[in-house]
Amino acid sequence: MDAVKCSVCGKELDPKNARTCEICMKTICLDCLGYFAIYKRSVYKDYEDLVPVCPSCKPKAMLSRKLLRIVDEVFGGEKK
Ligand SMILES: [Zn+2]
Ligand SMILES: [Zn+2]
Repeated sequence: MDAVKCSVCGKELDPKNARTCEICMKTICLDCLGYFAIYKRSVYKDYEDLVPVCPSCKPKAMLSRKLLRIVDEVFGGEKK
């Protein structure tokens, strides 16, 4: 059995309650999880999406270009 631990508070988690930070890819529990709204553009419409981020990445997410990277990864070659 794999013990899954939250990388923020160290709590052991049920794997089904574990979430992954979209930016640093660390495992985080639901208590520590934050969401960050990003604006995405698709061929049909623009919309907001919520991505799970850990507390230490949340401020980064608001500032950094990594956000753009996430959008690029999600939409891959769709962008012009
Ligand atoms: Zn936690
Ligand atoms: Zn993170």
